[in-house]
Amino acid sequence: MRYVVSGTGVLTYSAAIVGGFARTLHANRPDVQFVIAPGSFAAGRIGVLENEPGISCGVWQMRPESRGHVHIRSKDVAASPMIAPSYLTNELDRNTMVEGLRIGRKIFAQPEIARFIVDETVPGRAVESDEALLQYVRKNGSTVYHAVGTCRMGEDPMSVVDSELRVRVRGMTGLRIVDASVMPTITSTNTNATVLMLAERAAQIIRSPQAVGVANQRSTKTV
Ligand SMILES: Cc1cc2nc3c(=O)[nH]c(=O)nc-3n(C[C@H](O)[C@H](O)[C@H](O)COP(=O)(O)OP(=O)(O)OC[C@H]3O[C@@H](n4cnc5c(N)ncnc54)[C@H](O)[C@@H]3O)c2cc1C
Repeated sequence: MRYVVSGTGVLTYSAAIVGGFARTLHANRPDVQFVIAPGSFAAGRIGVLENEPGISCGVWQMRPESRGHVHIRSKDVAASPMIAPSYLTNELDRNTMVEGLRIGRKIFAQPEIARFIVDETVPGRAVESDEALLQYVRKNGSTVYHAVGTCRMGEDPMSVVDSELRVRVRGMTGLRIVDASVMPTITSTNTNATVLMLAERAAQIIRSPQAVGVANQRSTKTV
């Protein structure tokens, strides 16, 4: 009612009101990111709250090494592709996530916040060993929606686009890809700003006199 009447109060907050970066023992620069939300999210369920009031802390690795793949399954363009994220297949990723969870616990153990904490419901204090924490991550972990790299940029034979975003497919010219799929790796943080910068750079490349000249030559040939 407060939100409806005055547009103020807790419903005006974003889902996560605290963000932070930290460095685990496995990196020499920040490699995990945190969000902290004023709600007790149920384990492994998106958008569902627990019955107890509380606070949730989510952690993710910023530059994972595990590599998944996306493959077409049929010639039917409407058929869904097979998406295999292959999370946690790399040992560094497993170690980083386990330590990331421990850093989250350290934050909540600081006196300023610890005095408000009654208990840890998820994963729960009993989940303590590296194996148990990893098992929790495997079972309940989800995505932060920063998928990249299915058409990665590079100069090697396995790359899909070159440094000017041109598709390297035999017999195909004049096609560029401009989106998150060309990023060879996930950026250190959220991907949206990088997509915008990619688009700005692509516009420069496409409008450059050189590119326009090539396009004109091609259309003359086609005619
Ligand atoms: C739930 C969620 C939350 C996110 N939160 C953040 C965040 O807080 N901060 C951040 O930086 N990043 C965030 N991201 C990541 C960010 O949104 C993406 O990295 C970015 O939008 C990717 O841009 P893109 O252009 O590659 O793809 P998209 O933004 O997905 O654009 C693809 C476009 O292609 C269109 N399309 C698809 N198929 C066809 C077709 N056959 N024909 C024509 N058009 C088609 C789609 O409708 C869409 O408009 C979030 C992503 C998700 C899913």
